[in-house]
Amino acid sequence: MTSYNAHLAHDADFAGWRAHVRHCLAGAVSPEDVIWSITAPNDLFSQSASRSLPTGASPFRIPREQARLLSGAFLADVPDRFRQLHRFVETLAHDSHALHVPSEVTRDVHSMAEAAWSAGLDLRTAFSAAIRRGETMLSWPSHLSAIGQRHALGSLCAASWAVTTPRFDLACDGGEITIGGAGAHNDYWSGLPSVTHPPTLSELHELQSLDVLRAMAPDCHACDLWRPATRTVFGEGPTEAALMFVGEQPGDQEDLAGRPFVGPAGAVFDSALQDVGLERSACYVTNAVKHFRFTQRGARRIHARPDTGNIQACAPWLAAERRLVRPRVLVMLGATAARAVLGRDVTIARERSRPHRLSEDTQGIVTTHPSYLLRLPDDATRIRETERFKDDLRLARSLMSK
Ligand code: SF4
Repeated sequence: MTSYNAHLAHDADFAGWRAHVRHCLAGAVSPEDVIWSITAPNDLFSQSASRSLPTGASPFRIPREQARLLSGAFLADVPDRFRQLHRFVETLAHDSHALHVPSEVTRDVHSMAEAAWSAGLDLRTAFSAAIRRGETMLSWPSHLSAIGQRHALGSLCAASWAVTTPRFDLACDGGEITIGGAGAHNDYWSGLPSVTHPPTLSELHELQSLDVLRAMAPDCHACDLWRPATRTVFGEGPTEAALMFVGEQPGDQEDLAGRPFVGPAGAVFDSALQDVGLERSACYVTNAVKHFRFTQRGARRIHARPDTGNIQACAPWLAAERRLVRPRVLVMLGATAARAVLGRDVTIARERSRPHRLSEDTQGIVTTHPSYLLRLPDDATRIRETERFKDDLRLARSLMSK
């Protein structure tokens, strides 16, 4: 058999690699007979750069889970990965049992995907720490990690940011992510894979760093809320915070901004904190559920309460935040937060304004969610309920020093 020359536009050219592999499957070309090369256009960032790809294709389809594994492994910094992954696809095509019984080939691919995820997590953790220091520019030695994590980085920071690598720069203007000087969606950069790795419960239980926890959160698929939402909205605040607030879920504005309590309810919350002499920047603020649940009505996204399944699915994240922050006082803002923390249905009127022992280190307080104060129909009720809310905050402050 003569060799088959397969040219890729760059070393993250997943679409090009896939087209060649499909062509090889259709023509029974063995992975050992393929010579892979990278043919960069003269102008790396030219809008007109294009590939010449084969058109013949195998009808073989890869199950979604294997495709995700493959696209992750494609960004592992491993020599000969184009050939190794070609062998993997050939194994899938010829041996349906490979879907269930990992062969040597599939184990290698799992290792590659793990290596790519681990490198990506290092980047995300460094990026997350930089964002928390107020920096939005990071220099990183691996462009493959940057490619694979571009969407997760966008989920970690909704504002403008940039990551520079030896090959190119990734930049985000708060929405669109671009590569180098060219749009990420042009022909040259099309078909880039992403590396995702839904964290396991044991990973969450063993973590010792809030930055790593935050960096893992964009990959969570434990319930369906990640699909329609824009991004994971993780908790924020110092690891050593003595006071933690737990709300229900991010709202429309939080979902867009990537930060908890920045919408209208957040303004009420901030104002009440200020009135009782608490610094928000010294508190850890999070939600029981990390993705925005909503119903689309025309152009508007209407808040929908998370259900018990969402609260339970998200519970390991909240538990990990509580374990790592270890607050002296935890304030549950509303019935959903109280349900998530106390593990049972809670009537706010009956259980608010008194301490609940949550653990040896932590006292809990149940109070209303600030959005409740926004919904009250008349000024007199709003003023009275706002004072009750502030009294609960004062109680939290007093418990911190006991
Ligand atoms: S809401 Fe929580 S459990 Fe559900 S996908 Fe988001 S982070 Fe995961």
